[in-house]
Amino acid sequence: MYYNNDTVIYFKGEFVRAAEAGTDLYSQSLHYGYSVFEGIRSYPINGGTKMFKGEEHYDRLRRSAAAMKMPFHYSTEQMVELTYEVLKRNNYTDAYIRPIVLCSPNMALSKGREAWLAIESWEWTNGYMSNSMRIMTSTYRRPNPDAFHVDAKVSGHYVNSILACQEAKDMGFDEALVLDTNGHVAESSGANIFFEKNGELFTAPKGHILPGITRATVIELCAELDIPVHEKYFTPEEMRGAEAGFFCGTAAEVVALASLDNVPFSRPWEVTKSAVIQDAYKKLVRGHSVFPVQAASQNKTSILEP
Ligand code: PMP
Repeated sequence: MYYNNDTVIYFKGEFVRAAEAGTDLYSQSLHYGYSVFEGIRSYPINGGTKMFKGEEHYDRLRRSAAAMKMPFHYSTEQMVELTYEVLKRNNYTDAYIRPIVLCSPNMALSKGREAWLAIESWEWTNGYMSNSMRIMTSTYRRPNPDAFHVDAKVSGHYVNSILACQEAKDMGFDEALVLDTNGHVAESSGANIFFEKNGELFTAPKGHILPGITRATVIELCAELDIPVHEKYFTPEEMRGAEAGFFCGTAAEVVALASLDNVPFSRPWEVTKSAVIQDAYKKLVRGHSVFPVQAASQNKTSILEP
């Protein structure tokens, strides 16, 4: 499904066939979830392919590895270059890229002794999420920031995501809304969350969430489009029955929510500011606009111009 006999990945310093690459059964990564990873999208643009915010993703990978005290020494530039080589060798333009930093065999609870970078990729056909998700408030809470570096993308954290997501699916919903340890809305199992009230957007502040690169992009787009956006704590009660809500993440992009705990969002999606953001994001990542926002705010050039 993800690879065939011809698929090439980068692993331990060389380009190898995915089908022939192997990991060690005695690694901390496997036994303790002690690995860090990223999820990046590349889009077909101008006859080639371009990662959306590839540098930001690799900067986060480096920060995640540092938070886990892994001996990891690739620069962001090196990893960007290696990724384009993986895409080229597989002839991918519309792709999902999954870099992961794995640690060497070691059954002790010590720091990683050696860290290896793997860059895997597969063609993206979308359809992974519908644009009308019915979500439920999970009985699981996000990991406690006193116990984990929740702002790092660490494999072990995703056991919590699997529990929350599967609970929601078992109950007949599409996804989970997961609260933080204080009972405020945090995020979904693998995406950040916004809701809309009186044409203004609200999202959880940093602290108990993985601060997504898509979330940051949505906030930038709000500034560009004059849509007020607030980073504040809120409860599921405040969100239930609001005008609109959406998930956002690299893989999901911006996905509309139909209902929360069976209470529908109140406005037709098409007339909401959330739909405006969805459309703007779709255009931005596909190269139909100018980035970054920094340049936009300095020169007053719209990032939404072709
Ligand atoms: N929260 C969680 C738990 C995630 O797994 C992801 C996906 N990486 C996100 C939020 C969204 O992050 P990003 O926009 O950087 O993909």
